[in-house]
Amino acid sequence: MNGDDAGGGERRTVGILGGMSSQSTVEYYRLIDEGINDARGGHHAAELLIRSVDFGTVERFIKTEQWDDAGEYLADAAVDLEAGGADFVVMATNTMHRVAPRIEAALSVPFVHIVDPAADAIHAEGLDAVGVLGTRATMDGAFYRERFEARGIDVIVPDRSRFDELDRIIFEELTKGEVRESSRAFYLGAIDSLVERGAEGIVLGCTEIELLVEQTDRPGVPLFDTTALHAERAVERSLGQTDT
Ligand code: GLU
Repeated sequence: MNGDDAGGGERRTVGILGGMSSQSTVEYYRLIDEGINDARGGHHAAELLIRSVDFGTVERFIKTEQWDDAGEYLADAAVDLEAGGADFVVMATNTMHRVAPRIEAALSVPFVHIVDPAADAIHAEGLDAVGVLGTRATMDGAFYRERFEARGIDVIVPDRSRFDELDRIIFEELTKGEVRESSRAFYLGAIDSLVERGAEGIVLGCTEIELLVEQTDRPGVPLFDTTALHAERAVERSLGQTDT
């Protein structure tokens, strides 16, 4: 607990478990810092730690489905954040929430799950069914479906025929900072198809998709940007406005 300086108010130290990829970790840093400054004014900024891991190691664990090893690797890194003074931890990736239980078990401080602020935002819009776009491991994984269904939200994923290309664009382009028109068109096609199949909104369930697709691309379809929502929750939590 720190950051209680003149005019700054109380702030809890944010721990970002990042590097998956660094493209989105810098967005988390920027958004959280801006959020604290918006709330506190002046030169006030976030009390924040980043523990960035080797994305090449994580990518190998994903491709070989070594989830136990991934959980251990990330749990160790999360513990580094706690040891460094983080009051809570956010992991700046959707995919690796497949191993969130292993990370939570290693921490004594709270772990703020990326799916929860998305579920809250969907509830606030009064939606019952959403499409989820992300890596193959996210779309195939249970963590969105289980957490959303517990909140009464149905999950629709793209046709499996689109999985390879959606996944390829994330790993070969977006995580390297490449944004291509053809890839934007592919993602917009996947969104349109999900809407035709009953999705009332779309979760951008990969922390780099917001680099490619914006709300203005599909003004009639609510898009839920998990990077922005997760970062906003970290700001609220840092300011002591929520314990969720
Ligand atoms: N950042 C991405 C996500 O939110 C994909 C990279 C990763 O596998 O961590 O899922």
